Amino acid sequence: MKEIVPPPPPIVHNQHAEIRELYARNVVPSYGRFDLVLARGLGSRVWDVGGRGYLDLGGGIAVCSLGHANPEITQALIDQSQRLVHVSNLYYQEPQGRLAERIVRHLAPGKVFFSNSGAEANEGLYKLARKFGHDSGRFEILTAMNSFHGRTLAGIAATGQEKVKKGFEPAVPGFRHIPYNDLAAARAAVSPATIAILIEGIQGEGGITPATREYLLGLRQLCDEKRMLLLMDSVQCGHFRTGRFQSFQRALEGHPAAAGFLPDGVSMAKSLGGGFPIGAFWVREEHHGVRLCDILGPGTHATTYGGTPLACAVALKVFDVIERDGLAQNARELGEWIKCDLQRMVETYPSVLKSARGVGLMLGLEFQARESIPSLAHGDKAVSTHVVNRLHELGVLTIPSGLQVVRLLPALNLTKPEAQEGLEIIERVVRELA
Ligand SMILES: *Cc1c(COP(=O)(O)O)cnc(C)c1O
Repeated sequence: MKEIVPPPPPIVHNQHAEIRELYARNVVPSYGRFDLVLARGLGSRVWDVGGRGYLDLGGGIAVCSLGHANPEITQALIDQSQRLVHVSNLYYQEPQGRLAERIVRHLAPGKVFFSNSGAEANEGLYKLARKFGHDSGRFEILTAMNSFHGRTLAGIAATGQEKVKKGFEPAVPGFRHIPYNDLAAARAAVSPATIAILIEGIQGEGGITPATREYLLGLRQLCDEKRMLLLMDSVQCGHFRTGRFQSFQRALEGHPAAAGFLPDGVSMAKSLGGGFPIGAFWVREEHHGVRLCDILGPGTHATTYGGTPLACAVALKVFDVIERDGLAQNARELGEWIKCDLQRMVETYPSVLKSARGVGLMLGLEFQARESIPSLAHGDKAVSTHVVNRLHELGVLTIPSGLQVVRLLPALNLTKPEAQEGLEIIERVVRELA
């Protein structure tokens, strides 16, 4: 983790306006984008087309686990692309087998299916659950309110937020939402049709809310009693971001029941490829007396690009670097240090800040409601949007989550000086609001 020297600024001829114009004319306007046009990056820094630098604490929404333009990722891309980029899943190839082995080794005995995104990884889990329940006529999957599971049709049906569903009815049937971290509500919601419960280990889009130990253990017990699958969406909270491979491993650390706890399926994406698109789900070897890992037999599930040699070679390199450089430990220690400082800010500026939340390098700073912050009370912008925009002006990228939370999901190799720099600028914005 050495000092990064910014490259020289490029020659500019209002590329900003030109690129925005290309979008306005040609790109489906489904995203609410910030007014930044980014050109390149290095480590936790990115530069816009005008040559202005930013400290990236958003990590491409928890994706760029090794930062931008990581030379080892570049080398893995070059090496593998000179050998084999794609062959289809009609054949075997080594990188896919090795990556599956690596995931299994970090999780538990089971098998892995590769997809291209988080939503697709979750689709695989829905199909696994339906196939598992098929012969007993059960199909329903319970998911949490405020959850996020992706933007496919089944993904928005699974997601516990009205805003993603609106206008796309009729919804895919077979999903029902339960309040998060409420075990009694989960138990009460189980119907004769329920076959699985799917939750995020830490709700990301919902505002950085970790599942409690009691909730995790209680859901496992409930699923065991009712012969249901416990599924975890680890797309955002997984891949060492919490200091352990999976957030539930971190949550249950030191608990006597930790060793016995395992979900039946886990979806992944985001940090897995460090920026190269890849998703996956892991399914447990055996549970409820069934070989769960073999439920999706030949012909039941597929995707053309799933687990290409190129994607898998990059994901293997990401694993290598995280392990070699102790980045799980960095996420844990630096994350703890950042959170302490955020907590100090919460205590110093109670009129602006409500809480600091999260684990490792998956953190959220919760602001007070807009109405109670005098300088924002008369505007119409959400506090989170205001703060993220103001941070852009001061050279820091963060991610809003709902109306009141600003998320930090930086690269796992973020350094302490970088974190300190970001925190000082965040505090400046908070002070302005106070
Ligand atoms: C981002 C995300 C998804 C969707 O992943 P895509 O790659 O955008 O399809 C699903 N679940 C969670 C928890 C996520 O954060």
